[in-house]
Amino acid sequence: MKNSCCIVKNSCNIRMMNSISIEQGKIAPLKKNISSDHTIIKGMTFTELQEWCIDKGESAYRGGQLFEWLYRHGITNIDEMSNIKKSFRDFLTLNASLETLTLESVSESNQESTQKYLFKTHESKFIESVSIIEKQRHTVCLSTQIGCNVDCDFCATGKMGFSRNLLTGEIVDQLLWVMRKTTLPVTNIVFMGMGEPFLNYKRVMDAADIFHHQRGFDLASTRITISTAGILPRIYQFITENRKYKLAISLNASDDITRTQIMPLNSKWPIKELIKAGKTYSELPRRRVMFEYVLLKNVNDSIEDAYRLHKLLNGVQCKLNLIPYNSMGGIFNRPDEDKIKEFAEYLYDRQTTYRVLVRRSKGKDINAACGQLAVNNKEKENL
Ligand code: SAH
Ligand code: SF4
Repeated sequence: MKNSCCIVKNSCNIRMMNSISIEQGKIAPLKKNISSDHTIIKGMTFTELQEWCIDKGESAYRGGQLFEWLYRHGITNIDEMSNIKKSFRDFLTLNASLETLTLESVSESNQESTQKYLFKTHESKFIESVSIIEKQRHTVCLSTQIGCNVDCDFCATGKMGFSRNLLTGEIVDQLLWVMRKTTLPVTNIVFMGMGEPFLNYKRVMDAADIFHHQRGFDLASTRITISTAGILPRIYQFITENRKYKLAISLNASDDITRTQIMPLNSKWPIKELIKAGKTYSELPRRRVMFEYVLLKNVNDSIEDAYRLHKLLNGVQCKLNLIPYNSMGGIFNRPDEDKIKEFAEYLYDRQTTYRVLVRRSKGKDINAACGQLAVNNKEKENL
């Protein structure tokens, strides 16, 4: 499970951000299951299901019914669709599939109400999701890609390399599985699991729309957060499309030299540009960007860093989430508690347009905390 930064270098990882294509998310929708002729209808949006039904000689109304069965009710068997006529259910059994991911295991944290879900894809790759329960708040952290090629030096997922983007149905299925296994309703979704959501833009947006849709999961848009390492053109697309979901940007350094060292994409989309984009998002009604800042010992945790951070955020309506680093056993370390406190207090004392919060990750004993999601062979052998 543990990867060591800079030592494990997967050939899929791309150090030069210039070669990361923002077009990765534009793969044609995969509607066919690799192993059969069945159309995978899980993952289709409301409109897509309506169109699909019309194409099959049914009404748009029927598409709405399918949408509710798939997402609001989360059925696993076509025969459960009790208000769909038998002849169409038979058609669906022959032509449609609800299958995307298989649940392999659920690990429970001893310390907190955190569970890590391990899933297998159709080609036997593995991805993970995390369910975090704090009082009445139930947050599910979802993966959007198998691995990630943004290659941040401190992140376990980045060290896995990149296999492919997840399909919308695979993103939605992670949530459906968690909902089946827990009794407390899900209150919040964060796209902070494996992968870079904005390099799988369309599918992530479709999944978020299904979560938000009144006849789907009916979650308020303010309870859905998308975190990006800073894929600038996609941030602006998100703003231009007037998406109502919350936006988080992983800043992680207060100067470009350090940020480029730990996040190579910074050479393409530097700090100033990201702050500007965050500010533009915050200027939309009822939006407030969140900047995430992973505290790394002796890398970005000095008072000079705190000073520069203050200079950058002063004047921007935003939240600043300080995340003490979750160790993966590599070259990076978490700062001492005194240092974390000192850094946070420096900013608390000066916060103006921004609000500072220290985020304590849960589930560290099962490697379910931020940046610790990486599925390696050893883990699979233990299944
Ligand atoms: N790719 C997206 C979302 C997934 S990472 C992004 O980078 O924003 C989610 C968050 O976890 C990011 O803020 C990232 O900086 C942080 N992170 C990665 N590795 C971490 C680690 N080992 N400890 C703490 N936070 C980490
Ligand atoms: Fe990818 Fe985010 Fe990890 Fe960077 S921090 S490697 S963008 S998952």
